[in-house]
Amino acid sequence: MPKLLVELLTSPGCRHAKAARTVLLAALDRVAEPVDLSFVEIGDESAAASYDFRGSPTIRVGGHDIEPSGDVPIGLSCRLYRQADGSLGGVPPRAAIDAAIAAWREDQAEAAAAPGGGVAELPARVMRAGFLWASRRRSLERMATSNRLTRSLVQRFVAGSTLEEAARALVALRAKGFATTVDVLGESIDSQEAASAAADAYVETLRTLEAQGLDGNVSLKLTAMGLDLDRESCAANVRRVVEEAKRTGAFVRIDMEDHTRTEATLAIARELHAEYPEVGVVIQSYLRRSPDDVDRLNAEKIRVRLCKGAYDEPASVAFPAKADVDTSYRRLSERLLLEGHYPGLATHDEAIIDHVLAFVERERIGPERFEFQMLYGVRRDLQDRLVAAGWTVRIYVPYGHEWYPYFMRRLAERPANLLFIVRNLVRERRGKVAA
Ligand SMILES: Cc1cc2nc3c(=O)[nH]c(=O)nc-3n(C[C@H](O)[C@H](O)[C@H](O)COP(=O)(O)OP(=O)(O)OC[C@H]3O[C@@H](n4cnc5c(N)ncnc54)[C@H](O)[C@@H]3O)c2cc1C
Repeated sequence: MPKLLVELLTSPGCRHAKAARTVLLAALDRVAEPVDLSFVEIGDESAAASYDFRGSPTIRVGGHDIEPSGDVPIGLSCRLYRQADGSLGGVPPRAAIDAAIAAWREDQAEAAAAPGGGVAELPARVMRAGFLWASRRRSLERMATSNRLTRSLVQRFVAGSTLEEAARALVALRAKGFATTVDVLGESIDSQEAASAAADAYVETLRTLEAQGLDGNVSLKLTAMGLDLDRESCAANVRRVVEEAKRTGAFVRIDMEDHTRTEATLAIARELHAEYPEVGVVIQSYLRRSPDDVDRLNAEKIRVRLCKGAYDEPASVAFPAKADVDTSYRRLSERLLLEGHYPGLATHDEAIIDHVLAFVERERIGPERFEFQMLYGVRRDLQDRLVAAGWTVRIYVPYGHEWYPYFMRRLAERPANLLFIVRNLVRERRGKVAA
């Protein structure tokens, strides 16, 4: 039976710490699972950042705040909770603790039932196609982005709308031992001005990362830099970002988009890598062409991030079956580990990660030769475990207003995320009705 991990986090002198402890112990009294309970005192701002602590008292169940409040700043101040009678009080309500435990149980049951995401393959495939279709629909984008509730739910996957918010998330991740790469959200823009503004946003991001002593590493999409408008001005925009990276000693990763852009993306990555070696690119294991691309990039000493691929592709260019995509991922990861140049293995797939760990042990490949990469907000338990075991884990941290297509791709990867979101929505609504 899985252990229920529970933490009560308080800052020194918190008036509600004792009452929070009492209500928590009463809730845990009725739990059948083994409980791993800890009480943590958050003494200063840096501890607050490392625990993503947004006020005292905070209760976390299974590593997650029972009432996620992403827009409340990290810090040591007191925290208020909506009580059952609608008033605000300093003690977390019992119902919120019970709901968090119930949600944790649902997650466990879902994970045990189907490691592939808890939804049978066919409906999942249909839903995936639906989300990817929706990700390209401007009218749906307008609807979703103007909805306050949807916006607040996006916080699970997006570190904030502003660079300042993203920087806070980066500090918290660094305190937990993670490396990071920053993505300024945006893709498929429709004017040269927007493309140039996207490059400006990256330049500003690199300057802020340098000024705050944060990890100098960004990820960008060529369609955000104007690839669909004009290849040369797109390359010039990226070059501007790369020049700033050179000045600050940072790394620039060029994300990979759908297969119609693969050739241009690789060509621009090669051009810029020749000017500055700290430029890397991404290979998708679902593409049939990828073994040849990996061999070439290895020979050219270009750093590769390997992922499965997030777009809706025709069977003529990509493997339709998940099993083939996974087999391809395993093979390509081995090639990159043996012959590549500090590859980034980007996946949340535990079976593949176990395969990689067994492979590097057998081949005596140490943690200095590669890194794991994962998305912000996805499988945080696995992220923590790998870091605790001494591996480098880089978190892909997106920020900005243009979150819609990114968010829809995250839903497509795991339709069960929709359940998670609806659950939070219902919980939030209940809180509001009570108020
Ligand atoms: C750092 C990073 C950078 C990426 N860059 C690109 C890129 O440039 N181009 C591109 O096409 N794709 C990119 N991707 C996305 C990638 O292609 C996959 O779509 C995504 O990572 C899901 O595949 P997976 O390897 O995790 O395996 P899957 O088989 O899809 O998932 C394995 C398990 O991981 C968990 N999981 C996966 N995704 C989610 C999610 N969204 N929410 C919750 N749980 C989830 C589930 O438990 C699932 O069972 C990137 C991914 C990462 C981690």
